[in-house]
Amino acid sequence: MATIKNISTENLLGELDISGEHYSCLNSNPVNSDKDYMLYWLQGSQRVSDNKALSLAGKLANRLDKPLVVAFLFMPDYPGSNFRHFNFMYEGIRETLEELQAAGAAVQVEVGKRNEFFKRISEKASLILTDQGFLQEPRNWRKELGEIARTAVIEIASNTVVPVETASQKEEYAAYTIRKKINSFRDKFLKIWEFPELNHSGKKYTRIPDNFSCRDKFLASLNIPAVTPELRVSIKGGYAAAKKQLESFTSKGLKQYDKSNDPDLNIQSGLSPYLHFGNISPREIALEVINSSSRQEVKEEFLEELIVRRELSHNFIYYNHDYNKFPDCLPEWATTTLKEHSQDERDYDYSPEEFEQAETHDKYWNAAQLELIYTGNMHNYMRMYWGKKILEWSAGPEVAFTTALYLNNRYALDGRDPNSYAGVAWCFGKHDRAWQERPIYGKVRYMNRRGLERKFKMEDYLERIKKLTPEKNIAGD
Ligand SMILES: Cc1cc2nc3c(=O)[nH]c(=O)nc-3n(C[C@H](O)[C@H](O)[C@H](O)COP(=O)(O)OP(=O)(O)OC[C@H]3O[C@@H](n4cnc5c(N)ncnc54)[C@H](O)[C@@H]3O)c2cc1C
Repeated sequence: MATIKNISTENLLGELDISGEHYSCLNSNPVNSDKDYMLYWLQGSQRVSDNKALSLAGKLANRLDKPLVVAFLFMPDYPGSNFRHFNFMYEGIRETLEELQAAGAAVQVEVGKRNEFFKRISEKASLILTDQGFLQEPRNWRKELGEIARTAVIEIASNTVVPVETASQKEEYAAYTIRKKINSFRDKFLKIWEFPELNHSGKKYTRIPDNFSCRDKFLASLNIPAVTPELRVSIKGGYAAAKKQLESFTSKGLKQYDKSNDPDLNIQSGLSPYLHFGNISPREIALEVINSSSRQEVKEEFLEELIVRRELSHNFIYYNHDYNKFPDCLPEWATTTLKEHSQDERDYDYSPEEFEQAETHDKYWNAAQLELIYTGNMHNYMRMYWGKKILEWSAGPEVAFTTALYLNNRYALDGRDPNSYAGVAWCFGKHDRAWQERPIYGKVRYMNRRGLERKFKMEDYLERIKKLTPEKNIAGD
């Protein structure tokens, strides 16, 4: 083994078993072995269990013969976030930091400006690791950290089963063009990354604000924008809650996952908020599903969503920097056809506010919007219908795109995710093909209300939503 004094970042990483893993050096600084600790910046994957980047940080701390410090920054100005998101996130962060402290790592929690946080935490670090960011802002922040730190900074892909660059080196057209690529690597990457036993205690570097242990006081001190109305379901973030949800799903919902399109049955896994905050890894979910006793067909149907569809969204976000812009994020055929039909007469022309208040003529659409507001979630099939109807009943496709993204990201606990941008863009033709031309939609796929009524017991879905919102009249026409 090379001595630590003069080891290069490449050699250090080469000593670990990470062949085939994707990582990037965010600057050209050397490892600085004279400094005090190995630093891990906790950002995307908020968990200890099967956190590839965090597990490697632990191993590197041992190799450098240093304690591990894990730092987290609460950013009240996090783009598009509000109290609903922070409230869910708090639990996961607190749980993760407690687990790390019990394992001998030091933890540091700060609130405020990234720049000052990066300067302070990197000052005493020999080496810095973090997980890979996907949306534009988290990617920019990693660049900033690379520029500010005087020591080497490395990011490691941790949030998908197959690292995005390994699956494909370009933006993929649709699920059918990426499926084979992802599935050819799937088994190789389906393994769990254990957090190692640490050789040194980092206790003396721990710094946590006094009010952190009191959830309400701490969150109030952040001055985060509130969202009204509040959720009417109780949902807690964190790994323990995610694992419980996963176990409940594998023992019940998974067996009938071939019926998961049905909104009145509500048998989806409910795991998307946990995946969004990185409370549980897609590898751990996939392995639990694979090892369950359900039929192979339903397991594969679920893995198609969890791995192929979810990682297609990551591919989109990673390679298309216009992922949140209309029409730039769409394929050419969709842009052309939506433009050609943008002046078509609309039977209904709702303002963003009318959509937000669930005040359309359509009781199913209203119910879906209320489900989003009051549960922070919406059934996948209803999400498709919801987005398609915003396109149909807005003054034009551009305002429809902005409205759908705004409502999704404001109210959904899993919002502001690669899936949010891919899901909304899908309603406007992304990752889809051209269909028969019709008014307003052009060649973009159309969905109608009769389809809902023909396929599902929509009255049962309405009953479920009415129970959440007895005071609201969702009757529509
Ligand atoms: C307009 C629109 C907006 C959407 N916004 C979001 C969003 O903000 N956040 C979000 O995570 N998903 C979004 N989706 C995708 C999908 O609706 C949700 O991922 C799914 O309903 C989450 O529920 P679940 O975890 O119970 O899913 P399950 O059916 O149990 O699936 C398990 C996991 O697979 C992945 N998955 C499932 N369906 C899809 C899909 N169609 N595309 C990509 N990945 C999928 C998710 O990570 C999900 O958690 C959106 C879809 C549409 C059409």
